[in-house]
Amino acid sequence: MHEVSIVARDPRRFETVIGRERTDVFVNTAALATELLAGRSIVNINSTAAGGGVAEMLHVLLGYVRGMAIDTRWVVIEGSPAFFELTKRIHNHLYGGSGDGGPLGEAEHHVYAETLQAEHDDLAAMLRPGDLVILHDPQTAGLAEHAKHLGCQVAWRCHVGIDEQNAQSEQGWTFLRPYLEPFVDHYVFTDPGFPPPWIPPERTTAIWPSIDPFSPKNQELSDETVEAILTHVGILAGRPGDTTFRRNDGSVARVERHCDVFRTGPPATPESLMVVQVSRWDVMKDMIGVMQAFADHVDGVSDVELVLAGPTVTAVADDPEGGQVLQSCWEAWRALPHAVRRRVQLVCLPMHDLDENAVIVNALQRHAAIVTQKSLAEGFGLTVAEAMLKRTPVVASAVGGIVEQVIDRETGLLVKDPTDLGEFGAALVRLLGDDELRSKLGAAARDRAVEVHLGDTHLQSWVEVMTALTS
Ligand code: UDP
Repeated sequence: MHEVSIVARDPRRFETVIGRERTDVFVNTAALATELLAGRSIVNINSTAAGGGVAEMLHVLLGYVRGMAIDTRWVVIEGSPAFFELTKRIHNHLYGGSGDGGPLGEAEHHVYAETLQAEHDDLAAMLRPGDLVILHDPQTAGLAEHAKHLGCQVAWRCHVGIDEQNAQSEQGWTFLRPYLEPFVDHYVFTDPGFPPPWIPPERTTAIWPSIDPFSPKNQELSDETVEAILTHVGILAGRPGDTTFRRNDGSVARVERHCDVFRTGPPATPESLMVVQVSRWDVMKDMIGVMQAFADHVDGVSDVELVLAGPTVTAVADDPEGGQVLQSCWEAWRALPHAVRRRVQLVCLPMHDLDENAVIVNALQRHAAIVTQKSLAEGFGLTVAEAMLKRTPVVASAVGGIVEQVIDRETGLLVKDPTDLGEFGAALVRLLGDDELRSKLGAAARDRAVEVHLGDTHLQSWVEVMTALTS
C-alpha cells in the first residue's frame, strides 16, 4: 500500500467559471464538512494512482478537499497480476459480461482475501477509530471488514454497473456480497439503477463524478497550443510551436515526449475533421466498433480522420487486459482496406508524466470535431464530461452514466443500441456534415457541464453522505 500525494487547490479559482455566489456556497459546504468530521480524516483507498476515471477524479476532487483544509488522504493497494486478473473479471461481470471467462469460486475467494490481508498492517498503522474510509470499486471491497474492525466508518464507492442485472452481473455481486454486506455503512453508486437488490436504498447515494476546469486535462488551451502539442507528439502535420501548459501543482511545463502512433503515411493535416475517442484499451470501450463504423459508414465523407487514443499499455497496473485489447485493435486496423486505414491512427499516449499525458488528451479533445464514447457499458464516462466542458460535440452510446450526461440532440447525440454500427456511423455523418449543429450542441454541452459536472456539486453530494455516516 502506498500513499498518493495530493496537491491542495484553491476553491476560489472556481469563481471565474461558476461565479461568486456559487463559489461562496462551495466554500461554505467545505466548512460544514469540516464541522461534521470534527477532527477525523477521510481516507480514500483504490487500486491505481494513474489511468482511468477513478484516479482522474480523485486527483481533482481531493485537491480541493485538501485546499479547504479538510483532512483527507489517498492510498493505493498493491496486488499480484493474479489478483488484478481476478478483479478485472469481477469488474467485467458487474458490467454484465463474463470477462476472460474464468471462474469466481473458492480458489478466487482465496486469492482475493489473501491479497487484501497483506494490506492489513499498513491499514492499521494509518487509520484511527472514527476515520471515514472510502473504498473504491471491487478491488478494495474486501478491506471493509478490517476498516470496520479498526473502528472506522466505511463507505463503498462503486464506479461500475449496469441498469438491469443479468446472470453475469449477479455472479459478480454474489462474489462481492460477503465482503460488503456485513461491514459497509453506506454505499455510493454513479447511477441509482446500478445497485443489486440486497443493498439497502436508504443507505445508498447516487453521485456523479466531477471534472476540474483547471487541471491539465481541461484547462483552456489556445488553438496554437493545441496544434503545437498534437504536432509535437506526432498526431498532426501542423505548425510546431509552444507546447507550454500549467501543471496540477501550478508550475509551468512543456510537452516533451512523443506518442506511439500506428499509422500508414503522413500525420493528419490540421484542416481535416478529426473524430476522436480517448479510452483505456478495454473491450467495453469498443474501440474496434468505432473503427468498423468509421470504415463502413463514414467512408464517403472526405477529409475526415479517426484517432483512437489510449494509455501506453504497460502503464495501468489494475488493467491487465490492455495489451490484448490494443493488439486486437491493431489487427483490426491492419485488416482495413488501405484507403480507410490511412485515415485511422491508433495512438498510445505516454504515461511517464501524468500531467503531460492529460494535456495531450486535452489537446485531442479540443481539436476533435467530434468526441465519441461508443462504450458497450459505462459507469459514468468522464471522457464525455471532459469533451462537453470543451464545447466539443459528443456521439456516445446510450448506456450507464452517459445517459445521465448527454441530453440527446440537445447536448450531444446518443446512439440507442451500442452494438449498432450503422446508427453510430449515421450519427457521425450527420454531425460531420453540419457545422452549425456541431456548434449548437457544443455550446449547450458546455453550459450543462458547468452546471452539473464541477467539483462544487460533487462535494455537496459527499457532504450528504458524511452527514448520513456521522449521524
Ligand atoms: N485517460 C487519460 N489518458 C489516457 C486515456 C484515458 O487521462 O491515455 C482518462 C480520460 O481522459 C478520462 C479517464 O481516463 O479522464 C477515463 O475515465 P472514464 O470514466 O471515461 O472511463 P474508465 O477508464 O473509468 O472506465
